[in-house]
Amino acid sequence: MNPTIMKFGGTSVEDANAFRNVAAIVKDAVPLRPVVVVSAIGGFTNALLASVQKAIGGDARAATRSLDHDLKRHVAIARELLNAESCAAFELTVAVTRREIRQLHKIIAMHPVTQPPLQDEIVAYGEQLSAQLLAAVLRESNLTARYVDARRCLRTNDNYGSAVPLPETTPATRAELMPLLESSRIPVLGGFIGSTDKGVTTTLGRGGSDYSAAIVGAALEAREIQIWTDVSGVLTADPRMVRKARTIPVLSYQEAAELAYFGAKVLHPKTIQPAIDCRIPVRVCNSRAAGEPGTLIVAESEAAPQTVKAIAHKNGITTVQVTSARMLGAYGFLRALFEVFDRHRTAVDVVTTSEVSVSLSIDNASALPELIPDLEQLGAVEVEEHRTIISIVGEGLRNTPGIAARVFSEISDINVSMISVGASSVNLTFMVEESRATEAIKRLHYVCFEAPASGSRTELATEEVTA
Ligand code: ADP
Ligand code: ASP
Ligand code: MG
Repeated sequence: MNPTIMKFGGTSVEDANAFRNVAAIVKDAVPLRPVVVVSAIGGFTNALLASVQKAIGGDARAATRSLDHDLKRHVAIARELLNAESCAAFELTVAVTRREIRQLHKIIAMHPVTQPPLQDEIVAYGEQLSAQLLAAVLRESNLTARYVDARRCLRTNDNYGSAVPLPETTPATRAELMPLLESSRIPVLGGFIGSTDKGVTTTLGRGGSDYSAAIVGAALEAREIQIWTDVSGVLTADPRMVRKARTIPVLSYQEAAELAYFGAKVLHPKTIQPAIDCRIPVRVCNSRAAGEPGTLIVAESEAAPQTVKAIAHKNGITTVQVTSARMLGAYGFLRALFEVFDRHRTAVDVVTTSEVSVSLSIDNASALPELIPDLEQLGAVEVEEHRTIISIVGEGLRNTPGIAARVFSEISDINVSMISVGASSVNLTFMVEESRATEAIKRLHYVCFEAPASGSRTELATEEVTA
C-alpha cells in the first residue's frame, strides 16, 4: 500500500495534551503506513522571527532570552510525556539548540547583513525541535517512529524565506524515507524547512508545512495527504469571522486552490499543486476531534459540481489604478505595466482592465514607494489601501446564471470594485473597503449557507438579511 502523509499544524502540537491526541491519531493510522510532517509548536515560529528582529537591533542576549519561555514549553511537554531517559536526551537537544541559536543571534547582532540565511537557520529550529519531540512521544506510545531531518529531503533554491523546491527533492525524499517505510518505521519530519545544494537551511514561507506535506506526498506517490488542524476541515468561511461557518464535505482541487489563494488560511496556497500533479486526494481533519468528518479534496469530476462552496477573504490589500489615454488602441502597454511589477518583485493578485485604465491588487505593498514613480511614467496612478478581497468559490458558479446579480444586490449598500470572474470560472472575486468586509461576508454567508432553503442549492437566496 502507498503511504499516507499526516501533517500536524502548530495548534495540533501546542501542549502535552495536543501531543497525546496526535499520538493517538497516528497510532490508529499505522496500517495506512503513515509519514508524519509536523509544524513548530504553536507560537514558536513567531517568537523565533521576533528574536531575529531583536538581534538585528543589536541585543543578542535579549534575543536569545526571549525564546526561553517557548523552549521551556518543549521541556514541559517532554517531562509530561516521555520516560526519564528520553526526556533527558530531549532536554539536552533543547540545551544544544539554545546554544546554537545564541551563536547565530550574536553573529546577526554584529553583522545584520547576514540576516536572510541566518534567519532561516534560526526559524528552522522550531520544526526540528517539534519533530524530534513528536518522534520521541510516538516511541513512548510503542510506535516505531524515526526522526528525519527534513532538510535532507526538501531541496530548494536559495530564496531565503520563501524558497522554491527543486526537482532533486523527489529522489532525495525517496532515498531518505523509502528504506524506513520498507522496514515498517514511521518517519517524522518537520514541515516548512529545506536546504540548498550547498546544505544551507531554507524555509518555504509562512504556513509552509502544508506545502512540505504535499511535496513529500507527491515524491512518495502517497495514497492520501492529510492536513490535521484545529478546525473540522475547510469551512464555508473563516470561522473567526463567521461563527456559523460549517464544514464543506468535498471540494475540487480547483476550488480548494482558489480558496487558499484568496485567504483561507487552513491550506497554504501552494499545497494543492503537487496533489493535482499526482492526483492524490487531500483530506483536512480536526486533530482535536478526530472522529468528525473533515473535507476531502479531489479531482473536479469527483467533487459535487453544482454548488457554491465557500467565501474566502484576504485583508490588507492595496489596489493600484493606472489610467492612460495611451492605452487606447495601443499595444505594449500591459507588457510595460507588468514589467514594472516584475522589476520590483511584487506579485499581483487580481487585475481588471478597461479601455484606458488598469486596476491591480497587491498584498505586499512594501515596494510601492519605488513602484509608483515607475508606474507614473505610464499614466496617472491612484493607490487605495486597506482593501479586502472577497472571493466566492464553487464549481457551481460556472453554469449558474444571475449569481453575480444576486451577490451584489445583497450588498448593494457597500462599495464594490475590481469585480472579476476567475479564468477558471470557479470564483467570483471583488474588492471592498476593509472596514466593511466583515459585514459583507456575514451577509453573503447568510444568503449562501444559512438562510432557509440555501445550503447546497446552486442559487443564492435574496431574502432581506441583517448582518
Ligand atoms: P495549522 O497550525 O494547523 O496550520 P492554521 O492556523 O494555519 O493551522 O489554519 C487553520 C485556521 O485557518 C483555522 O483555525 C481558521 O481560523 C483559519 N481559517 C480561515 N479560513 C478558513 C476556512 N475557510 N476554513 C477553515 N479554516 C479557516
Ligand atoms: N511553523 C511555520 C509557520 O508558523 C510553518 C507552518 O506552521 O506551516 O509559519
Ligand atoms: Mg497552517
